[in-house]
Formats: sequence, C-alpha cells, structure tokens
Amino acid sequence: MNALIAVLPGDGIGPEVVAEGVRVLEAVAERHGHDFTLKSADFGGVAIDAVGDPLPRSTLDLCLLSDAILLGAIGGPQWGGSDPLRRPEAGLLRLRRDLGVYANLRPVSVHPALRSASPLRPELLEGVDLVFVRELTGGIYFGTKTRDATSASDLCSYTVAEVERVTRVAARLARARRGKLTSIDKSNVLETSRLWRETVTRLMAAEFPDVKVEHALVDSAAMHLIRRPADYDVIVTENMFGDILTDEASMLAGSLGVSPSASLGDGTRGLYEPIHGSAPDIAGRGIANPIGTILSVALLLRHSLGLETEAAEIESAVYRAVEAGLRTADIASASVNAGAWVSTREAGDAVLAQLG
Ligand code: NAD
Repeated sequence: MNALIAVLPGDGIGPEVVAEGVRVLEAVAERHGHDFTLKSADFGGVAIDAVGDPLPRSTLDLCLLSDAILLGAIGGPQWGGSDPLRRPEAGLLRLRRDLGVYANLRPVSVHPALRSASPLRPELLEGVDLVFVRELTGGIYFGTKTRDATSASDLCSYTVAEVERVTRVAARLARARRGKLTSIDKSNVLETSRLWRETVTRLMAAEFPDVKVEHALVDSAAMHLIRRPADYDVIVTENMFGDILTDEASMLAGSLGVSPSASLGDGTRGLYEPIHGSAPDIAGRGIANPIGTILSVALLLRHSLGLETEAAEIESAVYRAVEAGLRTADIASASVNAGAWVSTREAGDAVLAQLG
C-alpha cells in the first residue's frame, strides 16, 4: 500500500519518542512491502522559533495532503509568552480544528506485567479494557474568551450535530466491543450537558438500540474510574471532562508514557499522538518512554490505513517486549529487578526485536 504520512516531532521529548515510532513504522512497512512516504515538518515551539507560528501554513498543507499524521508532543516553558495565539498549544487546537478531527480515542488497558507500575492496587486493575472517546473540537476550549482587569470568561457551547457525530463514533466502537456505552456529563448543573444527555439518549435509541447506554455525572465518574475501572467499555464525553478524565485513566496503566491516542473525523485521515506532553523535565536525556508513540503508530495503521494485521503485530510486539522485561525509567518500579531501566532507544530496539 502507498501512503503519505506527516511526521511532526514537536518539542521536548517529542522528537525522541517519535524517532522510535518511525523506526517501528518503517520496519513494519518493509516487512509487509508497503510504500510509506514519511515527511517531517516543524510544529509547536520549534515552529515558533523558526517562523513565529506554531502551525506554519506549509505544515498544515502537508497534514491536509497526508493520509495520516504522527505527532510527538508540543510545548515548554520557553514558549509561555503573553500572546496566547503564539503558544504551541494554540497550534495544536488549530491543527485539530482544521483537520476536522472531532473524536479523540484513548484506549486504556493494563498489561498484567505493568500492574505494579500503577498507583492502584493490582486487584482493581484486573480486566481493565476501556476506550475513551473525547469530543475534541468543541466546548469550552473553543468558545469565545473575554478578559478585562477584574474578570474573565470562557464560553462553553455545543450543537446537537457536534454531540451526535462524536456519539456515533463511540457507539460504533462500543458495538464492535462489549456493547456498552457510558456517557459522562454534568447535566445537574450545565445546560450544555442537558443538551448532551438528551442528544445521546435520542440518538442511541434511534440508531444503536443494541448498545447498552448509561449516563454518569462527571464527579462521580471520576471516582468510579478509580474504584471499578473494569466496569467500563466505551466512554464518551465532552472536551474538557475528557481532557481531565483521560489523564486520570492513564494512571491506571501506570504511566502517561504508555498510552496512545487517535483523533478522527469523518474520513479516514487521523492525527495520532501519545497522550503525554513534551515532558521538559526529562527532555534531552534519552530516557522517555516511547511505548505511547509506538502504540499510536499501531492505531494509525488500523484507523487510517486499514492495516489491522500490521497494527496487531505492533501491539503484540510491545506487549511481548514488556513481558520480556522492557522498562523505561517511568515504569521501572514494575520490574522484578526494580530500578533497572533502559533508554528510549533501547526500548525501541526491544520492540523491534520482538517484531522479528
Ligand atoms: P507531561 O505529560 O509533559 O509530563 C508530566 C509528567 O509525566 C512529567 O513528570 C514527565 O516527565 C512524565 N512523562 C510524560 N511523558 C513521559 C514519557 N513518555 N516517558 C516518561 N515520562 C513521561 O505534562 P506537563 O509537564 O504538564 O506538560 C509539559 C508541556 O507539555 C507543557 O508545555 C504542556 O502544555 C505540554 N503538553 C502537550 C501536550 C501535547 O502535545 N498533546 C499534551 C499535554 C501537555
């Protein structure tokens, strides 16, 4: 298969983890005879330094031409200036909006070998296998912002169409999994959440009567996610609740470093990135965990290129490497030989070795 893949390493540990993701992608392409063209471009803080814009026109054009985009992470303290539009995060919001990727998928499963890396008791993690579908291009992050000397406001708004399209993505996923969808809102307080709940209820009854739906308030869901995480199958929620809950859920898996994500719209083009940020505290030391990025490559192959076999090969290579003792510093406590850990590059080597 031919495909054009945009590679945006970004800032901090982004280039370090993306390098390992690219090695795995190239190895799989060679093994299966695919012809992937990988093109890198500046994005985030490095693009601000180069041309004064976190999302240069040439980078956006490349992404719009591509079949899929692999992103590392963006941001860092040196780009915290007063103009919010020149911050790296503004580039990421624009990229998601301009690509029309409104559904952010974040699978969370806990490999038995990594249970002890989680701050939760191992018995709570048994059977955890859930997917968050976070609405990504609406809500309070995109609403009108105001500020004067003594007050500030951020508008949260949603349309029925925005809620419907992300619910359909989540419901299709639930149908292909264990057939259960949990929708999270704050409908006892927020008008947008009442619209959200009514829309989800109506759409599910009309289009997905075979999928079991439950509604939960965000505050109690935050608690249940820790108390009984194995009960969840697919969770759909709005942008800000999803942002917060997915970081919470990532701790089930032990580290921010192991969780992948896929951002999808109506077509097959998607944006794939680990859920962590640029980790300025460890950047440049070659110790970041590349597993989240490598698993994001698997999601890219599955969702944008339809290459399920190749995606599954990468996932099982990662799990076999973990079983064989692969531990970067962030998950080293989950090691029989606690404290011993490998570099980012060595972690990539370990996955490549399992790919054969
Ligand atoms: P972070 O995710 O970068 O780091 C949080 C903690 O997790 C740090 O201690 C870090 O060392 C650790 N960590 C993260 N990824 C890791 C990995 N792969 N391996 C080992 N340890 C890892 O979050 P933060 O510190 O709040 O943010 C740092 C910068 O990243 C900020 O500028 C923020 O805006 C940005 N950010 C970007 C994205 C993105 O690019 N999508 C997401 C979140 C934060």
